[in-house]
Amino acid sequence: LFLTFEGGDGTGKSTQAALLEQWLVAQGRTVVRTREPGGTDVGDEIREIVLHRRGHIAPRAEALLYAADRAHHVATVVRPALARGEIVLQDRYLDSSVAYQGVGRELDAAEVRELSLWAAEGLLPAMTVLLDLDVAIGRSRLDESRTRYDRLEAEAAEFHSRVREAYLSLAADEPDRFLVLDASRPIDELALVIRGRVSALLQ
Ligand code: C5P
Repeated sequence: LFLTFEGGDGTGKSTQAALLEQWLVAQGRTVVRTREPGGTDVGDEIREIVLHRRGHIAPRAEALLYAADRAHHVATVVRPALARGEIVLQDRYLDSSVAYQGVGRELDAAEVRELSLWAAEGLLPAMTVLLDLDVAIGRSRLDESRTRYDRLEAEAAEFHSRVREAYLSLAADEPDRFLVLDASRPIDELALVIRGRVSALLQ
């Protein structure tokens, strides 16, 4: 079972992925929790490039770097784990590329999706949790947690608003795959809703 977590920065994706992992492991399930960009040695190097040189990479090059990271990650981590019958929980996947590079960087969303699907050999998640949050609140949460990256680099609020809208429109296009949650709700409440949906998928 392949599940992904999506949303803007500071919406609580990693927190919810970690809580879901704990819950699944407590039930005796084998879980692989991973993330993009990164998740492999090659991916970590690509992550350094895309994050530290953000704003200085041509948009198409950025899209290709994310696609390269995804191709390697899917081939070496995700598919092998799924083949072993494990549950893969992933922080960001192809919807991030469509939202950030396709819409945020104003590349063509459909083309970025095609590129991602090519990179991932067509692998789509069974469910995607979209944590939706006001952009300003997300950014203030990040400032509080003082993250390692200078994600805080002056990317216009307008860019992040476009990303948020892009996610919501992706979710509207594929209502069966997406679980859209208001990320301003309490952490435990969100975790319960996610568990409910995952339980149904596991039956
Ligand atoms: O979620 P995570 O902290 O791993 O994301 C790292 C950064 O990379 C975030 O600030 C996010 O905005 C950015 N990102 C991006 N395009 C993607 C995936 C992530 O710009 N496809």
